[in-house]
This record gives sequence, structure tokens and C-alpha cells, in this order.
Amino acid sequence: MGLVVQKYGGSSVADAEGIKRVAKRIVDAKRNGNQVVVVVSAMGDTTDELIDLAEQVSPIPAGREFDMLLTAGERISMALLAMAIKNLGHEAQSFTGSQAGVITDSVHNKARIIDVTPGRIRTSIDEGNIAIVAGFQGVSQEGKNITTLGRGGSDTTAVALAAALDAEVCEIYTDVDGVFTADPRVVKKAKKIDWISFEDMLELAASGSKVLLHRCVEYARRYDIPIHVRSSFSGLRGTWVSNEPQGDQKVEHAIISGVAHDVSEAKVTVVGVPDKPGEAAAIFRAIANAEVNIDMVVQNVSAASTGLTDISFTLPKSEGRKAIDALERAKGTIGFESLRYDDQIAKISLVGAGMKTNPGVTAGFFEALSDAGVNIELISTSEIRISVVTRADDVNEAVRAVHTAFGLDSDSDEAVVYGGTGR
Ligand code: ASP
Ligand code: MG
Repeated sequence: MGLVVQKYGGSSVADAEGIKRVAKRIVDAKRNGNQVVVVVSAMGDTTDELIDLAEQVSPIPAGREFDMLLTAGERISMALLAMAIKNLGHEAQSFTGSQAGVITDSVHNKARIIDVTPGRIRTSIDEGNIAIVAGFQGVSQEGKNITTLGRGGSDTTAVALAAALDAEVCEIYTDVDGVFTADPRVVKKAKKIDWISFEDMLELAASGSKVLLHRCVEYARRYDIPIHVRSSFSGLRGTWVSNEPQGDQKVEHAIISGVAHDVSEAKVTVVGVPDKPGEAAAIFRAIANAEVNIDMVVQNVSAASTGLTDISFTLPKSEGRKAIDALERAKGTIGFESLRYDDQIAKISLVGAGMKTNPGVTAGFFEALSDAGVNIELISTSEIRISVVTRADDVNEAVRAVHTAFGLDSDSDEAVVYGGTGR
């Protein structure tokens, strides 16, 4: 008998009908002879609604209470799901993250899982129950406060439980049929990927692909837990994410795995920086001290006559204010002329381990963008990724152009989006 962990996202359990549909699917997995542990997200947009509510009461809600509030969303769905399963004649028990043994650090709103002690879950399934666990939450080791893992954190809960319970697979059910060669909401001709390596999936997630969270894939790779991403609406076989393809998992896209895009970043330009040693260090030390994470960095050639240069970097829009404040404070000691902040940018990335050994990928990428009339503002690369920053207005067209140029378009319109918002 195998142990399967299944995770259902908010759009799969958006209403009573959805919960009943998911309950049937869970019961099927149990009938097939598996032990089943289910991780569930909050119904539909519940988390967003709770956040709105908190902000109406207090502009900067206290982390502890905020987490207490947000975890209520998953409590609702887990209890309803357990009821729906019982209604189908099977035994089910629901557990909060804390009851399931999800132990985290004390960083409210984006806690990290540091240990999973799933004793109660093990007992429950050994007694023949289906265990339903509230995703996205845990309890802090120090202080024993309720924490949340950051938006979309239920995926990480699922993989962490799969690892702790030594599950055969972690199935992530979502509102698309798997991982696609581009966001199917943007590219109608995106192709479903049959199998993708942890390595490529990590780069896609880091580049803005929302189907799986970076942290979740990182966790799965560390514990070698295969992930099967699939739709709770269609029942089709989805995308396998693992170290090596297994059985009949096809490896189709030898060179390029996909195109990802991200509109959540902004660009800061520090104008008129003296071109001498220590300046860049001072700028990024100020940013680091403000605990802001940056992404790309570019320094322009200094015009010899002025001895000044510009440094641009990108960062999440949500950190923009903090970064600008930190630089303004340090302006006197660092010495630069001015700051520019631009949040109308997009990042487009091409990902694939095959580009390590195939010349011409960068040229092809830039040609596709130029043919589409898209201007490139910043460039960064890793061994298996090329990213550019463009105007936000150009993003959809740019993604489609690159997707077509690299032969990723499918012959059929197989990319179906069943619901939700891509998260
Ligand atoms: N409900 C949480 C969110 O919307 C966690 C999740 O969906 O994974 O971010
Ligand atoms: Mg959600």
C-alpha cells in the first residue's frame, strides 16, 4: 500500500460543489488502495479577503494576529472537506498545521518549516482515516505561536509532509493541467510538459512561473520527493517534476523548458555614482541592511569625462519603498546624484538546461524580441537561464514571440485554464 500526499489549491475548493468534487477524487485515491494525506488551501479568494479585512482594521496588523487570522481560511476548507468525505462513507479527520506537527521558525507571514513531526497524522491514517491538513501554516518552535508560510505556502506544506511521511509522490492539484512551456493564461499555444527536472523547475519558479513555488520545489529536491502537478478539474495526467524521468515520462524539450514572465518587480536606478572602488559595495550594503532582496544588477559604463556611472537593480515592488528610503538615508555618505524608481517593468526569462551546450540561444532570444519590436533594458544570465527586463506593456507580446521563436507552440489548443487566477 502506497502513501500519497495530495494538495488542493483554493480554486479547486472554491465552493461547496468544488469541495464535493475534490472529496470524490480523494476517496478514489483511497479506494485504489493508498493511504491518503490531503493538504488543502483556503477556499477561493478567502486569504485575500481576510487580508483586506485586516487592513481595514489596522494599516499595519501585528504579525502574530495576522497569522492567526489568515490560518482561519484553511481551517474552514479542511473541516468542510472532511465532512464531505465522511458524507461519501469514508473516515476523515482534519488537522491544523500545528496538530500535524509542522514546526516553523518565528518569522510571522513568511515562516520557514524547520521540522515536521507528523505523529498524529501517521496514527490517523494507520487507523484507516483520510487525514486532511490545513496548508500554509505551522507553529513556531520558540513561543508556540501560529505562523504562516507566505502566500501560496500550502504547496510547501504538502511537500514537507510528503517528505516526513516518506510518501511515494506529492500530487499538487491546481486549475491548469500541469506545468506549461509558458503561462497558459498568456500563451494559448503553450504546451504541457510531461516531465521537468527540479533544476529547470526551480529556475522557472524563480523567474515568475506561478504554478509551483520556489520554496516548495527546493524542499522537494532536497528530500527527493517527486511532484506530480495536475488539474483537479480534468483528471488528466499532468507534469512530473523530479530528478530523473521515470517509466514513460517523456523528455520533449531538450534545449528549452519554457518561458516565464514576472511583473512583480520594479527597477531602481542610482544616478551619478562616483566611479571608484567601494561605491557599489556601499549602495548594496545599505540595501542589504534594510533586508531587501535584489534580483538583477547592471552598472553602466562611466562616461570618462564625468567619472560618474549609473547603477540599476531590480527588486520586488513590495520592497521598493524600503529600498528607496534606505538609499535616501545613506545618500550623504555614499554620494550619488539622484534615484529613479520605475515599476512599469516586466522580466522575461528563457529556461532550459540544454542551453548550456547549445550556442545561439541568446542570439535567438534577442532576435525574437527585436522582431516583436520589444526593447531590452537589462539582461542577466545563469547557466540555464537568460532574463531580460522590458516595458510591462510589452510583456504578453514578448512572451508569445519568444515562445514561437523557440518552437514551443503546440499544434492544438491544449492549454485549458479551469479557474482561479493563476495562484
Ligand atoms: N491560502 C494561502 C494563499 O492564498 C495559501 C495557499 O493558497 O497556498 O496564499
Ligand atoms: Mg490561495
